[in-house]
Amino acid sequence: MTQETGGFAALDLNPNIVAAVLATGYEEPSAIQHQSIPIILAGHDMIGQAQTGTGKTAAFALPILNKIDVSKREPQALILAPTRELALQVATAFETYAKQMPGVNVVAVYGGAPMGPQLRAIRNGAQIVVATPGRLCDHLRRDEKVLSTVQYLVLDEADEMLKLGFMDDLEVIFDAIPATRQTVLFSATLPSSIRSIAERHLREPKHVKIQTKTQTVTAIEQAHLMVHADQKIPAVLRLLEVEEFDALIAFVRTKQATLDLAAALEAKGYKAAALNGDIAQNQRERVIESLKDGRLDIVVATDVAARGLDVPRITHVFNVDMPYDPESYVHRIGRTGRAGREGRALLLVTPRERRMLQVIERVTGQKVAEARLPGPQAVLDARIKKLTKSLAPLVAESEASHGELFDRLTADLGCSARALASALLRKATNGQALDLASVEREQPLVPTTGPRERTGERTERSDRGERTERSGDRERRAPMPLAEGRVRCRTALGARDGIAAKNLLGAILNEGGLARDAIGRIQVRDSFSLVELPEDGLERLLTKLKDTRVAGKQLKLRRYRED
Ligand code: AMP
Repeated sequence: MTQETGGFAALDLNPNIVAAVLATGYEEPSAIQHQSIPIILAGHDMIGQAQTGTGKTAAFALPILNKIDVSKREPQALILAPTRELALQVATAFETYAKQMPGVNVVAVYGGAPMGPQLRAIRNGAQIVVATPGRLCDHLRRDEKVLSTVQYLVLDEADEMLKLGFMDDLEVIFDAIPATRQTVLFSATLPSSIRSIAERHLREPKHVKIQTKTQTVTAIEQAHLMVHADQKIPAVLRLLEVEEFDALIAFVRTKQATLDLAAALEAKGYKAAALNGDIAQNQRERVIESLKDGRLDIVVATDVAARGLDVPRITHVFNVDMPYDPESYVHRIGRTGRAGREGRALLLVTPRERRMLQVIERVTGQKVAEARLPGPQAVLDARIKKLTKSLAPLVAESEASHGELFDRLTADLGCSARALASALLRKATNGQALDLASVEREQPLVPTTGPRERTGERTERSDRGERTERSGDRERRAPMPLAEGRVRCRTALGARDGIAAKNLLGAILNEGGLARDAIGRIQVRDSFSLVELPEDGLERLLTKLKDTRVAGKQLKLRRYRED
């Protein structure tokens, strides 16, 4: 075991849980995990003030897994979450951490899915129930004893649950669980409504809060970009096209992510390497030496592996995955701007992590401005600038060495100087897109999310039992101008259905029999997607695609008319 992995091992957790966590690629506990796990293991009630991105899910999931009795096939832990998405996410996290604990069963209970199978899964011995309050109350109305064996209760994102009107449901649920239970409440904020719940339903709770001292950051230009989680690698590749960097460090959370991003960068020709806790110390030192002397330009690292890294060449820090807390953000970006030089720090933020960005801004006392992914024109300009820069030192001296050869080639090929120079450029640039239309064709594959675009989570309103789409139809943004002869089509499949632009592109290419360049920009939003298609023959194409399925769901592409 490397020194860093001792972090989880030292927490007194069951070795099977530690093994599963390490297999997930976590190297050491985050601050909230460090503080919460011992308290929960010791049986105290707890109030944790933490938002998404701090690692709060594992902070309660690991000790709860440690506590349940696998041999008993009845609900022992109940986790309440405000939305279906979060409930599913938490249930998946439990399953991941319980991978090496045979016999653990987790069930997610949320609205919009049939009740029967959920109830059966509970009765069939799920020890861990992750539920949204509205639906759980529906179950309680059918069977008031369903929670009578629960010993551990977690309220996740308690402030969000109250905002969504779940107060009354929470009271019903508290009453349905034995008073001897242990209760843990996580909330990003602690308004009086939450404090009052805690006073009534928690026993001498311990408070855990990630201390956020004000930090100063100077000489580093900071910006953030909103992206969907599955679009981070293409977004990084696009940003690198225009950022003028000397050396760069990209921070991610897991070992696997260091390997994935480093591989993607190497495939694009960057001199990049991964740095994580699995890499032997002497090899790590070699990577850092290479970054120092220019044999490498990019290192993709976890926080642990980058500890103590001091390389003055670093001009850029990319926070590809969100840091766990503002201190760690400040620490990361301090890798650049060394020795009085200027540095630039970019932070990728997924819709769910927006709150963490606000915390970072508050703690650093600085606004982290929003940047947009560079568009095709900016990418093209940057590529031409790089080409110009690489040719500049050659033009002065090449005529003497290669001038005669040039004359001979134009004569032998019977072509103009411009034609020969163009052929040489084509060869030298290796098929890289260097005109606007070709660059544009590369662009649609990175949908980003705008500042006002919400996560599109489906939520349940409990008070009147009605369900609403919180933001699905608020996702509109100003439409992009359409190219001549193209129309926009819409499908109700989006990121929340697990769709990425490449899936849509593949389906339309394969089943519609179109050429790649007939398909324009593809924008994947959370609850829908837009695809630009040729107007000519559109009806025929849509008929062809009538039964097409993407990610197991019907595509149902329709012409989209903007008003
Ligand atoms: P959460 O704040 O619980 O939503 O977690 C945010 C993300 O951090 C999730 O993708 C987790 O898988 C990841 N994560 C949580 N704890 C750790 C850890 N100790 N090391 C690396 N990644 C973690």
